[in-house]
Order: sequence, then structure tokens, then C-alpha cells
Amino acid sequence: MAEAGSIAERVKQQADIVRVVGEYVQLKKAGQNFRGLCPFHSEKSPSFNVHPVRQIYHCFGCGKGGDVFSFVMEMERCEFPESLRIVAEKCGISIPRAKERSPEERKENQARTAILEMHREAQTFFVKQLEGTLEGKAARAYLEDRGLDKDAIGRFGIGYAPSGGDALLRHFKSKYAEKVLTESGLISRDQSGRPFDRFRRRITFPIANESGKIVAFGARALGDEQPKYLNSPETPIYSKSNVLYHLDRAKDALRRQDFAILVEGYMDAIAVARAGISNVVASCGTSLAEPQIKLLGRFTKRVIINFDPDTAGQAATERSVSLLLEQDFEVRVLALPSIADGKGGDRKADPDLFIREKGKDEYLKLLKDAPPYVDYLIARARQMDLTTGEGKKRAVEFLLPYVQKIPNALLRSEWATRIAQQLRLDEPVLRAALSKAAGERRSHLNIKPELISRSAKPVERRLIWMLAEAEGFRRELAQELQDANLYAGLETEKIFAALMAASLSGEPVQATEVGATLSETDRNLLFGILFEESNEATWEEAQSCLESLRRRQVEHELAEVQRGLEAQPAGADLRGLLTRKQELMKRLSSGQ
Ligand SMILES: [Zn+2]
Repeated sequence: MAEAGSIAERVKQQADIVRVVGEYVQLKKAGQNFRGLCPFHSEKSPSFNVHPVRQIYHCFGCGKGGDVFSFVMEMERCEFPESLRIVAEKCGISIPRAKERSPEERKENQARTAILEMHREAQTFFVKQLEGTLEGKAARAYLEDRGLDKDAIGRFGIGYAPSGGDALLRHFKSKYAEKVLTESGLISRDQSGRPFDRFRRRITFPIANESGKIVAFGARALGDEQPKYLNSPETPIYSKSNVLYHLDRAKDALRRQDFAILVEGYMDAIAVARAGISNVVASCGTSLAEPQIKLLGRFTKRVIINFDPDTAGQAATERSVSLLLEQDFEVRVLALPSIADGKGGDRKADPDLFIREKGKDEYLKLLKDAPPYVDYLIARARQMDLTTGEGKKRAVEFLLPYVQKIPNALLRSEWATRIAQQLRLDEPVLRAALSKAAGERRSHLNIKPELISRSAKPVERRLIWMLAEAEGFRRELAQELQDANLYAGLETEKIFAALMAASLSGEPVQATEVGATLSETDRNLLFGILFEESNEATWEEAQSCLESLRRRQVEHELAEVQRGLEAQPAGADLRGLLTRKQELMKRLSSGQ
């Protein structure tokens, strides 16, 4: 744990757990603590607590608890050194660079740093090309045509990669090693191994990670070149399933408004953001990946999906609904209506086109009325051929997996009725299919059984609380508990034992350090107790708790003496045991 004077200790002292946890979980003040929905198990009412004074968190639902580092370790799935670095970074504390464990690691780190720097330079380069070259002028005309003015170009860092094929390469060549050039994803190689610019004659869009560092580019062809959209490949600094476009700028709005608009491409995200709707992110590709969903879930658990209305977009919508439901998101789907193409036909509209043609107010209105995902899916099912039994069966099979994911039985039942009505199905048959499917699903209990069965007696809880909190007399209290061996044999014995040393030393009790010496169950119990809202304790109250432990001790001994008496063979000398029994009974009756 955090050694005194160590970097970890320093970071822990300066970091505010409420702020750090607040970046992942929406917290509300509740008495002395903060409370929110637990990020480690799914729940509807909050049982996740953060204790600002003790700098610990604890969930009464699943029992997870710890300090700011263990929280980040759980959330980011990382080890302690990484979590230390993350916490320090979030709190603006500079820490000396960790020593890399091996030369390879050092090389990797150097490469990552170089590639990040290359992206920064490439960004400046692309922006300059758009501003100051003839080719760039044509690109600007294209952008203007798409409704992207100077202001938007600046705001979203839009640039231009020239057609030459080696402009960026020449810019980099003297500075970076061959290997890093290729690793960066900005430079490709042809079959003979000759390097050239990956992006040529394309509008460039910088893609930033969550903290705003440019880690990749998306690029749209200016002419008819294929592919129309070309993105950076996976590189040491970029994995497309871990990045959501525009998240770095959407964070605040996501938290404030508590929902996200999820679109497919960066042009869509830019169009929506420009309409004044900042809580928009793009998956940058048709499929949304689980890490992206987890990333988003740190800011909000409510999503409106607004993908392209084409077949690929529909398939992506359905897949995304599934994935989002698995992560307990509340999902709505906005399917934009087609718009007239002016030649008597209809054009399918993505968010970008729709906002350009119909304006942001119209878009906002549709957004507000976006239906829950089940409505969207029913509408999709209704497009299937429902005239035959076989067709209806297919429609139900299409809907079933989604309906199963509705956690609430009452809601599930309501949906069954609606599906039956809308698809003109026999309701009892549909219900039978649904309940059969539900039966095959593993029922999920969020509370660990050992947490239900485990509950310390009020007196024990109170004493544990006092040992941690009652600065005025915890030392004396610990001494008495120790001297009379009052906690031996209690269910909470190990917790008492762990608190003893700290209490007797007179130093403040560090919950996480004490917790680290305990089993998971005991640690959870201890944290639970520390989160109890309680009145100040007095020495008199402490004495009456001690008294109750003394009585318990006497009762135990009495029971033992009694068993001893009964176990003696006939004719044995019982005087010693009988005298002891008398003494104990007297003590019990006198209340001593
Ligand atoms: Zn929990």
C-alpha cells in the first residue's frame, strides 16, 4: 500500500476520490457521503457510496470497495502503477516517469511518444495545406459546399492531405526513423517497400482520444477515389474499438444532459455538434465495439442511436442495440425520414444531410421524440412478410433476443402485448415463446450470498466504528478490548484484530490499509460499517458496548462450564466447576 512519503502516498493525499470517481459515476451528495449507481454491478437504485473524508468507496450491493487507486484499477482494468499514473494525471500531480522494466519497454514507449508527436505535426501540416495551397483551395470549396465554413474547419481541425504522395513523408523523413514512419500509420509502403503518404488528395479529420490527444486521422476522398473514407490503421497509439470520435469534446455535455447521440461518421458528428448539440459521439465505422460502449458508459448510460438509414446502418443499429443492452444502457433509436430529392424521389438521410436540408430545429424535434429501441425494432419487424406463419415466426425470432434483454418483467410483459398487437400474433403463443426463452436465460442475482448471510451484531458494528472514528478515546477503548480479550470468538474477530494495532498506536486508522490485511468478506463488512451514518460516540456508550461483550463472554463461559459439568463421569469431583458456575451466574444477575 501507500508507504509514507512515497509518491503513491503523496498522490493519494492530493487526489480527491469524489472528483476521480465522479468522472466515471454520477454522484449525488447523501448526508456526509456521495452516492451513485454502482459501476461494478447493474442496479436501478444507488448503493455505491463514496466517503470523502476517509477517501474510500463501497458498494452495498456487490460489496466492492477500496481507495482511489483500486477504483481506477477496476475501472480501467489496469495494474497499480498505471492507476497511480492515471490518478496523478487526473489531479494534475506530476510524478517522476516510471522506470521501464525492460529495454524493449523503453523502446516501445519511445516509439509511442514519437508517433504521438508525428500526429501533432501531421495535424499542423494538413491544416497548413488546406489554408495555403492551390489544392487546398479546391478542398475548401468542397467543404463549403458541404456547409463547413471557416469557423467549422477551425473548430474541428479539418485539414487537407495533398495529392503528391510524399509531401508528409518529406516533412518527416529527416526527423524519424524508417520503422517509426511505417508504425505511425501515416506512411504506407508499396510492394517494393517504397514509403509514401497514406492519405493523398483527401480531407483530413483528426481523431482524438478521450483526453484530446490526436491519435489517428479519418480522411475523405476529394474526388471519386475509393475508398470514400479512409482511416488510420491500428497503431501503437490507436485502436479503433477504444476510441469514440468527439468524446473528448462531448464529455461535459454527456454528463450534464445524461444522454449521448451516437452517429456513424465524423461528418455526422460534426454536423450534429455544429447544430449546437454537443453530446454527440461517432463510432467511426459501422460497428460499435464493446470497449467503446464501456468508455461511453463512464459518462452516461443513455443513448440515442442515429445511424445511416441504409442496410449497413440498420444492421449496425441492431447490433449496437444488442451490445448496449448487454451493458445496461437505456437505448432509443432515431431513424430519420427520407427527404425529397427535388426530382420527385426520396433520398435516405444521414444526420449530416438531414441537418443541412431540414435544419437543426427539425432534427432536435425528431431527437426528442426518438422512440425506445423496441418500437424501432417492431417497426423493422413489420417490414417483414407477415402474411405467412413462417414469416411471422421469423419476425418473432428477430425480436425475441431483444425482448429477452429487458430486465424488468413487467415491461417485458407490456412489450409482449404490443408485439402481439402490432404483428397480429396470437398473444398466448407469443408469451409462451417469450417465457420459454426467459427460462433458458440464467437468472441473475446481483447480491453475493455471503453478503446477505453476513451481518455483525449492532454492538460489534458500533465498536468497530468507534475504533476507527472516535479519536477522543479509541486508544483506551482498544486497550480495554485487548486486556479482557473481549473480541475473541466474535464473527468480527479478525476485523477487531486488524484495527487493534492502529488504534493502540494512536495514529489515524487508514481504512484501505487495514482492509488490505483482511479477507474480502471482512473487508467489505468493515467498509460497510465505516459508511454508516452515525452520531458521535461517547465514552459512556463505549462502556455499555463493552459491557455487552463482557456479558457475552460470561454467557459463553457459563455454557462451557455447564457442558463440562454434564460431561463429567458419575462420582467425579464437581466442586471446582460448580463454584465457577455460581460465580458466573452471580455476575450475570448483578449485571457486572
Ligand atoms: Zn456494486
